[in-house]
Amino acid sequence: MTASNAATPSSIDEVLAHNRRVVENAEIDGSAMAGRPIKHLAVISCMDTRLTRMLPHALGLADGDAVIIKAAGATIVDPYGEVMRSVLVAVGELGVTEIMVVGHTNCGTHGMRAASLLEALRKSGVAQERVDEALATDPRAATVLNGFSRLETEVAASVEKIRTHPLVPPSVSVRGFVINIETGALTEVAG
Ligand SMILES: [Zn+2]
Repeated sequence: MTASNAATPSSIDEVLAHNRRVVENAEIDGSAMAGRPIKHLAVISCMDTRLTRMLPHALGLADGDAVIIKAAGATIVDPYGEVMRSVLVAVGELGVTEIMVVGHTNCGTHGMRAASLLEALRKSGVAQERVDEALATDPRAATVLNGFSRLETEVAASVEKIRTHPLVPPSVSVRGFVINIETGALTEVAG
């Protein structure tokens, strides 16, 4: 809507300039691609920036192959929250029959504490009264913002939440993995 301040270049403005060049050069042609995943696969992983290209590379997934769902820590917090809702759409609408939950080593949500996250947000400019108000309005803010203590346990818990979800067909295969952020190696999590 507005140009960025010259002293603080905006990444969004850079993105928009890049996008104009890409479109002008007709670099993208997605006209022949279907929205349904060719491999009938969904992958739930973390929003970590190091996984943006590495994850599909390491898994051998191209555009059109799989539904990729990203959330902090690859964690399913709510049985009808955004991640689980996306899983249900993937299964019910997009023909997904196999689901991988892929946590990763050196994850930012490993050991994260809600109290310190709230303090960081306060330092970023959220007034203490608003923090107090948020906690009073929805006490979940104090627990949902906690990270996990053990990666494999967290992945197994997410797998279990999908497997036991009342709206997920029993025929859907759900498996959990940890990906090594440095090498891309996948290790299956038992359970
Ligand atoms: Zn992560």
